[in-house]
Amino acid sequence: MTQNTGISNNILDLIGSTPLIKLNKITKNLTGNFYAKYEGFNPGHSMKDRIALYIIEEAERQGILKKGSTVIETTSGNTGFSMALVSIIKGYKCILAVNSKASAGKINMLKAMGAKVYVCPAHVSADDPRSYYEVAKRLHNETANSVYINQYFNDLNTEAHYRSTGPEIWKQTNGEITHLIAASGTGGTISGVAKYLKEQNPKVKVLGVDAFGSILKKFHETGEFDKNEIYPYRIEGLGKNLIPTATNFDVIDTFEKVTDESAAHRARELAITEGLFTGYTSGAVVQAAMQYNEMGMFNENSKVVLILPDHGSRYMEKIYSDDWMKEQGFFDAKKQAHEQVEYI
Ligand code: PMP
Repeated sequence: MTQNTGISNNILDLIGSTPLIKLNKITKNLTGNFYAKYEGFNPGHSMKDRIALYIIEEAERQGILKKGSTVIETTSGNTGFSMALVSIIKGYKCILAVNSKASAGKINMLKAMGAKVYVCPAHVSADDPRSYYEVAKRLHNETANSVYINQYFNDLNTEAHYRSTGPEIWKQTNGEITHLIAASGTGGTISGVAKYLKEQNPKVKVLGVDAFGSILKKFHETGEFDKNEIYPYRIEGLGKNLIPTATNFDVIDTFEKVTDESAAHRARELAITEGLFTGYTSGAVVQAAMQYNEMGMFNENSKVVLILPDHGSRYMEKIYSDDWMKEQGFFDAKKQAHEQVEYI
């Protein structure tokens, strides 16, 4: 930030320092005090802005990236958008290899941010030369001065949250946080924040959120996983069918799994109770808070921070579409869509 003026040097100055907002209604029947760290306030609308900026600036420090260099990643989601955003300001090319399941809307969003997008067939194995992993690796090998972010296996992902999100939460709660609840995908957010918080106060409990169909909870509990437990689910960005090295399981106390349906309803509830328009995994985190509450995890003095990873605008065709909810079978007789629109 420019000293003594209200002017930011560029949009990257606005990454991080997201608000911590007290939840007043959605958690009213739960024991304890609940606060949302709303990462949708980042300029790229998710916490992935933090890792994009941190990893790219680390590569600059190491002399790998120079003006005109190339940033490569394999994602159509939040990380892709954030990498494209940081690349624009820094003057790098951004290449994103995505699989053909990515919606046209998502590809258009990445193109709008100046990225070059390679759409790779979804139904080939990871080691097929046409898979998005292999395409990204090949482009990285062929492109001088390029960096392959590889967020699932990059320790800098976790370090970014250790250096920014963790200290922010500690400061915003005056060091009084007792519990952290966070979704785990790459595990970067939960592991980085947990490590920082536990260094300040080892008593802080770290409660992970996983999806049915993912292996993280089982792996955390047993050190192994059963391939039969892997099946497709709807929530994007949460859970995994492999073990990412960016996850530090030692700093996570426990995991709880949530269903696609409950997470979708909780996200919609967050909007109409708290005015927080968030993504699918934010609903998953609130749902997990309710399940942990049922398990007797909190008392009246508990100060529980929920990380809400992204903004709701990316989910208009999914959880915020009544048609999509109906197609999934998520509306039953009791949970009817709100009939809020009248056509004249
Ligand atoms: N929520 C959303 C919407 C995400 O895109 C991700 C990233 N995969 C996560 C949660 C999980 O965050 P992390 O990768 O840091 O574990």
